[in-house]
Amino acid sequence: MEGDGNHIKDIKERIRNFLKDIPEYIPGKSVEEVRRKYGLKRVIKLASNENPYGCSPNVIESISDFKNFHIYPPSDAVELREEISRYIGFEEDMIALGAGMDGIMETIFRMCVRDGDKVAIPIPTYTYYETLARMHRAVTVFLKRDEEFKTAEFERDAVLTILNSPNNPTGNVESFDFVREIVESVRGLVFIDEAYAEFTQKRLTMLAEMENVIIGRTFSKAFGLANLRIGYAIMHPDLRREFMKVSTPFPLSNIAIIAAISALKDREYMENTVRMILAERRRLEKKLKSFFRVYPSEANFIYVESEHYSSTELSNLLERRGIIVRDCSNFRGCSKHSLRISVGKREENDMLIEALEEIHGIYGGV
Ligand SMILES: *Cc1c(COP(=O)(O)O)cnc(C)c1O
Repeated sequence: MEGDGNHIKDIKERIRNFLKDIPEYIPGKSVEEVRRKYGLKRVIKLASNENPYGCSPNVIESISDFKNFHIYPPSDAVELREEISRYIGFEEDMIALGAGMDGIMETIFRMCVRDGDKVAIPIPTYTYYETLARMHRAVTVFLKRDEEFKTAEFERDAVLTILNSPNNPTGNVESFDFVREIVESVRGLVFIDEAYAEFTQKRLTMLAEMENVIIGRTFSKAFGLANLRIGYAIMHPDLRREFMKVSTPFPLSNIAIIAAISALKDREYMENTVRMILAERRRLEKKLKSFFRVYPSEANFIYVESEHYSSTELSNLLERRGIIVRDCSNFRGCSKHSLRISVGKREENDMLIEALEEIHGIYGGV
């Protein structure tokens, strides 16, 4: 089939024709990809905001003798929802599960966005929101941010407003009062993506009390379970009932459910890793200041701008030295000089600093 132009044309005619204009989601490059490309022994990835310490050893223990691969998982996952309820302080009938935050968002779009509806997204932010909006043929309204990257306006008629706090890639949190104003002013739902909630004290979670708010959370970041695809949402019980109608029937595997329960039972482990990451972030922020304009962060990554290099040039120079960072030039609303750097373990962060010093030594100015 390869090289068969007619075949491809056929396929394009069989899919919804507007899909061809939607860009693919571009994830951070994988370690394996970079290792092969440059023939490197050691490659570190500071590009996807993963927890460098991984998940609690109890989690690995809890799934090690799982055998029921032939049985469907429970679709309601009561025990997990009870644990989440204890963790965040909202009742189980307000908690819905999904295959990662991404799965949660897909369900929300299916629930409330129709052709031509307005979806409001402050930029720059997580790029999958726009992909989803376009997939659902929404009219995307891009909202402005202020100089601290806080959302500075809203769209009253939006059926869905998506806020991300702390925001990926800029690292800032939203102002509680302004978000409440948005929630009280808009006609539609407000989805607040709190993927990085565990890294900050400045959370918006309690806004889940308002009936047009959905708070999204994930086990992918602080809990170190990105591979298992575990997300959850907090919303009014009536809204949750509608959410369940459009959700896929079995969004979480049993392994994911068991892992999430034991992760919540060992919160101390997660909290310790968060403390280590935050201490490292402070150290790394100081070091990065000799190379970049560094923006303050409330998450496990740092947003920087290079004066001399384009982010594409600089990320390539780093990749060649075995370090993957996120070039943000393809994020709508970012400059051609912006990079997002995940906080790694101490020695990984030191590798990054050494590479930057080397680049600085060779080419001058970073
Ligand atoms: C990483 C990330 C996600 C994806 O979370 P999953 O639970 O792994 O799907 C969603 N939103 C933001 C802002 C993220 O940074």
